[in-house]
Amino acid sequence: MLIDTHCHLTYEIDNDAGVDGVIERAKSAGVGVIICPTADPEDIPTAIKIAETYDNVFATIGIHPEHADCNADDFITSEILSHPRVLGVGEIGLDYHGDDIKPRDTQIKLFERQLEMARDAKLPVAIHTRDAENDTAEILNKYSDIGGVMHCFTSGWDLAKKMLDRGFFFSASGILTFKNAAEIRETFSKIPIERIVIETDSPYCAPVPYRGKVCEPAFVVETARVMAEIKNIPFEKLSDIMLENVKKLYPKIKI
Ligand SMILES: [Zn+2]
Repeated sequence: MLIDTHCHLTYEIDNDAGVDGVIERAKSAGVGVIICPTADPEDIPTAIKIAETYDNVFATIGIHPEHADCNADDFITSEILSHPRVLGVGEIGLDYHGDDIKPRDTQIKLFERQLEMARDAKLPVAIHTRDAENDTAEILNKYSDIGGVMHCFTSGWDLAKKMLDRGFFFSASGILTFKNAAEIRETFSKIPIERIVIETDSPYCAPVPYRGKVCEPAFVVETARVMAEIKNIPFEKLSDIMLENVKKLYPKIKI
């Protein structure tokens, strides 16, 4: 059985087949468990509702840096973080890519507040970082008692090395399968397999051969296939290792 460790099921609500269809197709493809993060604070109640409705879906709760102008305490409570279906705090982090971003100091403030929340709740974090590697590593080093995962990891070996030393996990998305992603495959070939998990980040980043389509958790099989090739191990063995890794990353998960 595979686990999609990062899938935005809250964005599937309005699709034709809805969440039911997405979860059914995932099951048929051998993807038995899905972890649904939040990015938009308005989606937090929906994510919790989905995780309560489906016994194979869990949530992580956090506010993405693109919503950095909000106050985390208005949306995330200790009660939410202690919910049995909430495994961690995420996705949180920094995004300095492009012009249409929130001011860096606003992003850092939100990021640090959510790291404090994770520390208080004793939960791991799911980190989003884009064009902000140095600040991300520096801030995470201030919270050295917090572990977690670098979600949809596409940064270079520099950050990988730093975060390996910090004990973090690394999540590979469908980008791993892209033709032009040789450097990312090279980075993952050097990351020890006990520190790797896989995700779709759906509805984004559909892997080969589904590029251009709306991504969904069933497609995590393609990322797993490429990862098994990179690590030169049978697909079944890779699935077993990924499962054990998720249990270590998110100790609250019950599967
Ligand atoms: Zn995401």
